[in-house]
Amino acid sequence: MNLVHLLPVGKLEPSLLENLCLALPRYFPVSCQILSVELDPAPHYHAERQQYHSSEILERMQALVCQQDWRLLAVTAVDLYIPILKYVFGEAQMGGPCAVVSFHRLRQEFYGLDPDHSLLNERLLKECIHELGHTLDLAHCQDYRCAMASAHSVEWIDLRESRLCDSCRVQVESKTSLSGEQRK
Ligand SMILES: [Zn+2]
Ligand SMILES: [Zn+2]
Repeated sequence: MNLVHLLPVGKLEPSLLENLCLALPRYFPVSCQILSVELDPAPHYHAERQQYHSSEILERMQALVCQQDWRLLAVTAVDLYIPILKYVFGEAQMGGPCAVVSFHRLRQEFYGLDPDHSLLNERLLKECIHELGHTLDLAHCQDYRCAMASAHSVEWIDLRESRLCDSCRVQVESKTSLSGEQRK
């Protein structure tokens, strides 16, 4: 089975990762484990943006990829950016093995609303599926309900379903079984 290791970046509620660990394998052909190490995002903070550079975090993650990892998926509470964009919900290495997702802007509190833990878990799951899809070289999907649809705001994430459309699912299945065979 393709193993996804979940890596906390900075302090986060354990229940978020625990939920993700249980939910992800229902929608993506992987098994999940939470790493006991934690990556400190501090070196990637850029005061001029008051945000954290996601590509730098991805680069730093390379050293933490271990042999049994199929993918290393980082989750963080800090606000991420890449220089050409105001913010990103996440970033992935096309073709793998690393991806990072931020739930900073997935929280209702960010928009001045009351906390909603189940909605947060759902949005985080969708974003993780999306970024894992990118690690398999999947591009953005035209079907707005598909987990691979692009999202420029959280409303677009809410329109997505946690699952992939048939065409994206076929791509994921062909790529995950292929990588499984290469490992044997
Ligand atoms: Zn994307
Ligand atoms: Zn799709």
